[in-house]
Amino acid sequence: SKNSGRNTFNFYNETMEVVALEMHQLIADLQNAVENEEFYLQYQPQFSTLTGELVSLEALVRWQHPTKGFIPPNDFIPLAESSGIIVKLGRWILMEACRMLARLHKEMGAEIRIAVNVSPVQFAADHGFLEAVRDALQETGLDGACLDLEITESAIMQSGQVALETLQSMKALNVNVSMDDFGTGYSSLAALRDMPIDQLKIDKAFIDHILGGGREHSIIKAMLALAKELDIEVVAEGVETNAQLKFLKLLRCDLVQGYLMSKPLSEDNLFEFIRQHAES
Ligand code: C2E
Ligand code: CA
Ligand code: CA
Ligand code: CA
Repeated sequence: SKNSGRNTFNFYNETMEVVALEMHQLIADLQNAVENEEFYLQYQPQFSTLTGELVSLEALVRWQHPTKGFIPPNDFIPLAESSGIIVKLGRWILMEACRMLARLHKEMGAEIRIAVNVSPVQFAADHGFLEAVRDALQETGLDGACLDLEITESAIMQSGQVALETLQSMKALNVNVSMDDFGTGYSSLAALRDMPIDQLKIDKAFIDHILGGGREHSIIKAMLALAKELDIEVVAEGVETNAQLKFLKLLRCDLVQGYLMSKPLSEDNLFEFIRQHAES
């Protein structure tokens, strides 16, 4: 009836209002969350398929909200991006990750790298970002070669000439540029040729299907061959099964990351993990 249609409409409207209010509140909470020390990082290891060694660690941000509890990054990163808070948050993540790695190097003498996610917003709009990278390296005494900056395929592809210049400035700091979420966007082969990229990170959504008998299998084979040719390192993300690992080893994918090897670890658990890994 007319009436119920109207009620449905009102209900829908109110739901949207509630959602908008909640988002508004979350953004307000995000504003202070860096100062209130509600964020922390976890680290997920990436291993060489050739030697089994731990090569790099991906830093992944976590938010422990004082009343709402744990909020996953997929829920708050988009809000941090749309509100601009990602600039401050991104710099904190970078500094925190570099400090942790410096401690790790000092205590364990390990030659491990750190991979830090760079939001497309930081990449395209934060002109102080390069400065922040320079500062983080200087303050921690780390070599740029220890830092992998993960930038999504779509961010790199969308910003054209500007992206190229930013990437070149990053390269001047000796850091490694990694194209994140590879396989979810639309990179052309020409882009791989023209962009100063050190690493491709194949998205989990793609890895999920490599053994399904579909085209992913052939595409990944061709891609790995091309990457070898261009001297680009390849990381497979979201490796969950032994069959996937075996296949990736066979194709000489350089690095693997996923729950099969290790979930993201707290700093304490990471140090313990590395100690045990070194002993065995
Ligand atoms: P991403 O950059 O693609 O990160 C990989 C995600 O896959 C992480 O989720 C990681 O925990 C998860 N993962 C790794 N291995 C496996 C696996 O074997 N199985 C499954 N099911 N998942 C696996 P997380 O930590 O929830 O992060 C989600 C997304 O949030 C990230 O996707 C990234 O886009 C964003 N994000 C996380 N931390 C940061 C950060 O510090 N800065 C920025 N800008 N974005 C971040
Ligand atoms: Ca990433
Ligand atoms: Ca991904
Ligand atoms: Ca990503």
